[in-house]
Amino acid sequence: MKNILIAGNLPQDCLQLMGQHFNLLRMDQATDKDAFLAKHAASIDGVSGGAIDGAMIDKLPNLKIIANFGVGYDNIDVAAAKARDIVVTNTPNRLNAAVAELTLGLMIALARRIPKNHEMVRNGHWPSVKRAPLTGQLAGAKLGILGLGRIGKAIAKRADACDMEISYFGRTDQQNDYRYFDDLTSMAAHVDWLVIIAPGGEGTDKLVNANVIEALGPEGFLVNIARGSIVDETALILALEQGKLGGAALDVFENEPHMPDTLRNLPNVVLSPHAGSATHVTRQQMGAQVVDNLVAFFETGKALDPVT
Ligand code: NAP
Repeated sequence: MKNILIAGNLPQDCLQLMGQHFNLLRMDQATDKDAFLAKHAASIDGVSGGAIDGAMIDKLPNLKIIANFGVGYDNIDVAAAKARDIVVTNTPNRLNAAVAELTLGLMIALARRIPKNHEMVRNGHWPSVKRAPLTGQLAGAKLGILGLGRIGKAIAKRADACDMEISYFGRTDQQNDYRYFDDLTSMAAHVDWLVIIAPGGEGTDKLVNANVIEALGPEGFLVNIARGSIVDETALILALEQGKLGGAALDVFENEPHMPDTLRNLPNVVLSPHAGSATHVTRQQMGAQVVDNLVAFFETGKALDPVT
């Protein structure tokens, strides 16, 4: 039986399924992780769970596959893995609907002030306020998507159903029905909403900077459902404080689960604890996808979802 190192957190049902096919080495449960790794290093065939950096890859002489739980793999040193022909897999597609659903949920919550109105009613202030304050709406507004990939398209489909006008920015013009911008700041100046759903990592680090945020403007809204690293969080907070940006809905943060108190206390934000794919069905399917990749790789030599 092949040995899979469990390097970080994985859902229970994923571990159970994996345990039916492989011998699991639970480094996640070890108190002295370095000693655990040193003891088992030579016997490890695959790794799953958590962040896998180059130093860890170097310690595993027989490692053949890293099976990531999640579609984003900026937590893995893919270059170090490739240099040793170690296959890296992820979990694309099965989480598209859940992430897109939360994105629209956050947008509607921000546009229609759902959390604020909820607090107002819950705290018994409705009788004194009398009428709900008027808000913006999604219908008729312009949406710009940074990263029209698998999840971006699922978001576009749902935004289309909300009667939004859709544009996108990425490195390639996909020649589809949506308007393509080859410049992010220009798209930000054109739209009311900027939704970020591109991968994290070097290529997108702080891509959404002060200029992009200012171009979005005082009536504009920013939604980050991708990775905290893509946004200059300091510039974002400043713009929100100074009224240079209308509002933000954030599922991801630069240093999650932590964030500056100023961000937490701003009135014009909706905050979510990195919950994009966090539904029972989706997480169960992602877990199965991790195991399917490991099984396919060890049985046929080919993984189902290798990252390129
Ligand atoms: P995907 O299908 O690979 O799409 C990524 C999109 O980003 C592509 O359209 C790509 O277009 C664009 N892109 C890539 N690099 C870029 C760059 N340097 N500049 C501009 N655009 C760039 O990925 P996906 O499956 O939709 O997932 C997207 C990301 O969502 C993941 O990587 C992950 O970080 C995040 N995510 C978050 C959650 C959550 O819980 N909040 C859950 C799932 C995923 P071009 O190639 O044309 O540039």
